[in-house]
Amino acid sequence: MKIAFIGLGNMGAPMAANLAAAGHEVVGHDMADISIDGVTMAASGAQAVSGAEAVITMLPNGQILRAVANEVIPAMQGGAVLIDCSTVDVDSARVVAQQATDSGLLSVDAPVSGGIGGAAAGTLTFMAGSSDTAFAKAAPLFEIMGQKAVHCGEPGAGQAAKICNNMILGVTMIATCEAFALADKLGLDRQKMFDVVSTSSGYSWTMNAYCPAPGVGPESPSDNDYTPGFAAELMLKDLRLSQQAAESADADTPMGEIATKLYEQFVEHENGLGRDFSAMLPRFEKRGRS
Ligand code: NAD
Repeated sequence: MKIAFIGLGNMGAPMAANLAAAGHEVVGHDMADISIDGVTMAASGAQAVSGAEAVITMLPNGQILRAVANEVIPAMQGGAVLIDCSTVDVDSARVVAQQATDSGLLSVDAPVSGGIGGAAAGTLTFMAGSSDTAFAKAAPLFEIMGQKAVHCGEPGAGQAAKICNNMILGVTMIATCEAFALADKLGLDRQKMFDVVSTSSGYSWTMNAYCPAPGVGPESPSDNDYTPGFAAELMLKDLRLSQQAAESADADTPMGEIATKLYEQFVEHENGLGRDFSAMLPRFEKRGRS
């Protein structure tokens, strides 16, 4: 299949490389000067999508996605599928899907979970919002880039699933970090805290798989001086998307709101920018109640 891939950053580059390694003809485009084994680079998005049966985008946000969609949709061939794997707001996902439909194209919003490691290993989870036809067309590509693809519903449903998942992740990371900081102050050994919680009712992915305490649990960014991993600013982006969606859907999300404020404070005022989102633990460690 001829595939165009736009946005070849930390996530997009390894995803495109996996498609090329599986034998597809991949034409890439990025604003930055990037080269990837097996991927031919094009000078513009419109050039990259010419003649492609599938166009994949992996971009920073909804505004950029809308701009790229405006450029590439008119240049795509009829019946081709536009697969957006970026994490963006639900409204942008729906607008782009409508634009694709109006131009006789198929589209899927298909954000991913699994991070840079999952992108490189081809073990991402895709959460898709689309028609059945569009999902069926994209599914063989999801199989190459990932280990699981869930068809969540109509356009926008993939983004909805992603931001709900990441709202849980942000809230849970904060809860895990503040509990460790409390345990420290109560004189509890961190390894004992892990041994109990990871096998008790407080267990979670943030405790069991991505423990924010260095030297405790499986290897995670805390063992590497909190080098991301999943950067705090990306968590803030996803939490803000969750609150934007909650606002427009009139949903009450008090924990999501508090998590957004804490990550905002951490990233913008407490040197959290560029650190892993689990670096919330050293932040709590230093604080008292006031
Ligand atoms: P990144 O910043 O490394 O990559 C984005 C790429 O898009 C860059 O190479 C940039 O040059 C390119 N780009 C920006 N504007 C462009 C334009 N107009 N035309 C062409 N290229 C353009 O980001 P990333 O970490 O690869 O993340 C991409 C998306 O995946 C984001 O939406 C992010 O939220 C999501 N995501 C990231 C992770 C992660 O762990 N990094 C995990 C899950 C989801």
